[in-house]
Amino acid sequence: QLPNSRDAALRRRAGAVIPGGLWGHLDAARLPAGYPQYYQRAEGCRLTDVDGHTVIDFMCSWGPIVLGHRNPAVEEAAARQAAQGDAMNGPAVVLVELAEAMVAQIPAADWCLFEKNGTDATTACVTIARAGTGRRKILAARGSYHGAAPWCSPSLVGVTAEDRAHVLHYEYNDIASLENAVDQADGDLAGILVAAFRHDLGRDQEMPDPAFARRLRELADQTGAALILDDVRAGFRLDLGGSWEPLGIRPDLAAWSKAIANGHALSAVTGAERFRDAAAGIFTTGSFWCAAVPMAAAFATLTELRRLDGPAHMRAMGERLRAGFEAGAARHGLAIRQSGPAQMPLMLFEGDADFARGNAFCAAALRAGAYFHPKHNMFLSCAHTAADIDLALQAAEAGFAAAAAIG
Ligand code: PMP
Repeated sequence: QLPNSRDAALRRRAGAVIPGGLWGHLDAARLPAGYPQYYQRAEGCRLTDVDGHTVIDFMCSWGPIVLGHRNPAVEEAAARQAAQGDAMNGPAVVLVELAEAMVAQIPAADWCLFEKNGTDATTACVTIARAGTGRRKILAARGSYHGAAPWCSPSLVGVTAEDRAHVLHYEYNDIASLENAVDQADGDLAGILVAAFRHDLGRDQEMPDPAFARRLRELADQTGAALILDDVRAGFRLDLGGSWEPLGIRPDLAAWSKAIANGHALSAVTGAERFRDAAAGIFTTGSFWCAAVPMAAAFATLTELRRLDGPAHMRAMGERLRAGFEAGAARHGLAIRQSGPAQMPLMLFEGDADFARGNAFCAAALRAGAYFHPKHNMFLSCAHTAADIDLALQAAEAGFAAAAAIG
């Protein structure tokens, strides 16, 4: 029996009935060799694959798992709601309770509506901005990910030029390029979309420059366009009131998903009073968007995050991981760069354009019991303890040795 035989057998079966084996970002073909595709179970900060290997997880389902896998408070709330009903002919009471909780917790939010995926939320923000302004152009930072719909997908396969006709680009943190893009919109500017921080794949992360964030707010105010914060990835990890609260910059519209319900399928749009009528006017819906179980899970997730001060815990654990990476790399004579918020860390090796060192580091660390990513930001959760971080750093030691062995 090979160590990954069940995973390999499932991949073979999938190859026959699933185009390309798997779609999208969870395709293990995008990961270093040896990463499993299929999982058996998850608990706290640990994942067990179908071949029975257990690792400490630093991807957290690429963001959704913010309290830890199968968090008891969340799963109890979900089970209680499931016993009452989930997809019904209308929402359950928890819809109103959750919308009230979002509006109470998020200073920029005067209203809230719910959807399923992050792409639903960013797309609805764009539609609301257009409805509210009667204009067409949307500005987005070049390279920023906002979802998988034709207007924003990173791939142009199957996408027409018309799908992108009214999307213009600026460079993140570059005020001159932003002003230039506003000029190009030429009086037809509906909204300016911006990610909470720059977290493009395979490059150092960048926090928003406060002057850049202020200029975004000014330009939105001057033109009447909506400032749209894409908080899908960072939301509820950096600040429970919204990732730009510490900067003092409030968006007109914000998109949320990932961490909102600790792994249950939910996303949200929040907005300012000025866009309430526009939000009421657009047609946005989906068969499962009013399902009650994910909303009960979200209400419990937000309650737990407030009770635990989740962002502070994740920051502390991320800083511990970072300090360990720094020390480990130094012991092996390796130069690394660490960037972004500690809750969503990224480590890149210096001079590693093809990610050979990063891949070797991750593959060896995985065998030793820690699941890291070589080029996408990672995610901490409230389930990571200092002891878990220290265990993961022992696994990282094997990773640094493997990275150092590359000539
Ligand atoms: N915006 C950002 C910043 C994201 O990170 C993502 C998901 N990675 C999305 C939007 C799209 O979310 P979803 O995959 O749930 O549609």
